[in-house]
Amino acid sequence: MFYKILRNRSLLKVIVICGCAFAWSQPNANYHYQVSTDADLKKLYVNLCFEGAAPKELVAESLDASVALVGAWYESGEEIKLSGVIPIDQVLANACLNYQVDISRGIQRHDMTGPKVYRSAGATGVSNGLWFWRPEVFGKNRRVLVEFDLPDKYDVATSWSSTPNKHTFEVPKTPYDWPSWIVLGQFFKKEVTVGATQIDVSILHGSPEPDMDALLNWIESEAAGVDKGIGPIPFSNVQVLMFPNARARQPVPVAYVTRGGGPTLHMMINQRRSMDEFFDDWTATHELSHLFLPFINPEDAWFYEGFASYYQYVVRARMGAIDQMDAWSKLIYGFRRGSREAEARELTLLEATEKMYEGEPFMQVYWAGAALMLIADVHMRQDKAWSLDRVVREFNACCMERTRAWSAQEVLLKFDEIYGSPLFIPLMRRYVNSNDFPDLTDAFRSLGLKVTGSVVTLIDGTEQRSLRNQIMSVAE
Ligand SMILES: [Zn+2]
Repeated sequence: MFYKILRNRSLLKVIVICGCAFAWSQPNANYHYQVSTDADLKKLYVNLCFEGAAPKELVAESLDASVALVGAWYESGEEIKLSGVIPIDQVLANACLNYQVDISRGIQRHDMTGPKVYRSAGATGVSNGLWFWRPEVFGKNRRVLVEFDLPDKYDVATSWSSTPNKHTFEVPKTPYDWPSWIVLGQFFKKEVTVGATQIDVSILHGSPEPDMDALLNWIESEAAGVDKGIGPIPFSNVQVLMFPNARARQPVPVAYVTRGGGPTLHMMINQRRSMDEFFDDWTATHELSHLFLPFINPEDAWFYEGFASYYQYVVRARMGAIDQMDAWSKLIYGFRRGSREAEARELTLLEATEKMYEGEPFMQVYWAGAALMLIADVHMRQDKAWSLDRVVREFNACCMERTRAWSAQEVLLKFDEIYGSPLFIPLMRRYVNSNDFPDLTDAFRSLGLKVTGSVVTLIDGTEQRSLRNQIMSVAE
């Protein structure tokens, strides 16, 4: 297209003569958000300026964003009439507008995908989907800058890319509908380096006050565990947000990874639990294992949840957090729960995955996926002295595109290409549309695992022991 335009010499002259005006009519405008807040963090005041043409309207990701939106105004002060979107077709090129968002409470009126505001002593976490009004799509070559103008001693945590200006961030080109959060206010914030990855840890204050240094130390050791146990964490920067005051028996009752702007590990923590309990918990290992796969469509959750469920115990054995026998017992316990659920429900793996999002049980989803990882890992180690670790490391080195969503099939096709034989795709085809839990008989025989009821016995053959050790210890 561009080539054709350039061939037309008369048009080229026009472009040269009025280059600026021509550029303005392109959709590749730049956006500059200036965000300020009061000391009590109840409202965000946003001034948005367009360099170039303004879009027709602004949208926000959360269905509750229009409930949280207090109002929007043209530069003249005239109020903009809202209609679920912010219609701004009257905003001229290179103009600005203002809007305000109520972040004092976690509204859950239309959006049932979880709370969008987390308030704690001195700081507030807010999902960008609730306040970040944006065009449906930003132009390809646009630059989007967000500058925070905060009260004295207030800080910001975000997965957006830092710039030379401490409180100005650039919104990277991950898809805009991928969730991301910011934290504003006074909170504990420190960086740790694990391998080649910088981990930005933010922990909000709570009551009782969390032991910040101990929690920092814990997450650093967890990240070092996956970095050493699977391979280098495939991101130069990972954000960790810890929200205290969770009421639960476990130290980390809720945790998940978001990808918008860059990978962020969110953890609701119960700081009343002892640090020993944090170090004994598998949740962070599981979540950090997710980073070794790209964003995969949720309908294929059996793959990425299975992958993380497999590695959560394998990595913890490799770290020395649990012994090998314990790791096998825990994996086998998971497989039992998954296969019982599969037998009772008579759903295919894909159907069970779909129903998980309706709040139905998910053991089949997680543990059938994990069983497929074990079957593939055992097969590769026996067949060609390869391993799942090696496939994952090579995938991350050659092929992991981070700015788009993948399907399980696309990733597994790459895995097969890397391994050099069809393995993952045939396993997927055999089981995703089947009610049967993956058949582990051959894998258990190769590993020398004898399972009677809930009792696991290790058979002491040389080959079997060697295979078990390969999986549960870090390769030299
Ligand atoms: Zn998971």
